[in-house]
Amino acid sequence: MVGVYHTKLKEIREYAKSENIPIMQEEGIDYLTTFIISHQIKSVLEIGTAIGYSAIMMALCYPKITITSIERDEKRYLEAVRNVKKFGLENRIQLLFRDALDVKISDKYDMIFIDAAKGQNTNFFKKFESNLNDHGFIITDNMYFHGYLQKDESEIKSKNLRALVRKIRDYHTFLANNTEFSTKIYQVGDGIAVSEKK
Ligand code: SAM
Repeated sequence: MVGVYHTKLKEIREYAKSENIPIMQEEGIDYLTTFIISHQIKSVLEIGTAIGYSAIMMALCYPKITITSIERDEKRYLEAVRNVKKFGLENRIQLLFRDALDVKISDKYDMIFIDAAKGQNTNFFKKFESNLNDHGFIITDNMYFHGYLQKDESEIKSKNLRALVRKIRDYHTFLANNTEFSTKIYQVGDGIAVSEKK
């Protein structure tokens, strides 16, 4: 399925690289799409569309899936709209140009994929956990935050970066102490957390 779209996908990856837009790396995407297929995930809420790459990959890997994806940056959102059209996936990918922390969503999903501002992960989790179907999954990317999480704080020179790393550490603690979910963190790509609703 993905094979026939090879050139168009490559164009998206190259655009992301040239514009410095962070998109999921190959290992992470492979993990995510395999997870979707093996758990027969039929609906996804994605926080952080960027230019639509991960949403398109998720839609291509499983024809039964529908995705709602939220992006607050207008330029990226518009590029995502163009990309989704290029793949003819408008009927399965709904894009919302909003700040995820302001949006009200009442639908329920089999999976919520958090891939937006890393310092807000706990807030995203708390805001959207009620949008999860029973036994659904919340997946969070960049749990190791480009390797910074394994570093000692004294090694991180920038004050802002140190604050961000602290917030991601707090998110690890929040997940570990959350009794309503069971979380496993996988050493895939930049670290992926899979939190299953009990
Ligand atoms: N999931 C995308 C992919 O792999 O193709 C990459 C998403 S990128 C890592 C994170 C995106 O989240 C950025 O484009 C950023 O503008 C967006 N973002 C950050 N905070 C957000 C928020 N509060 N609401 C909506 N979008 C947000």
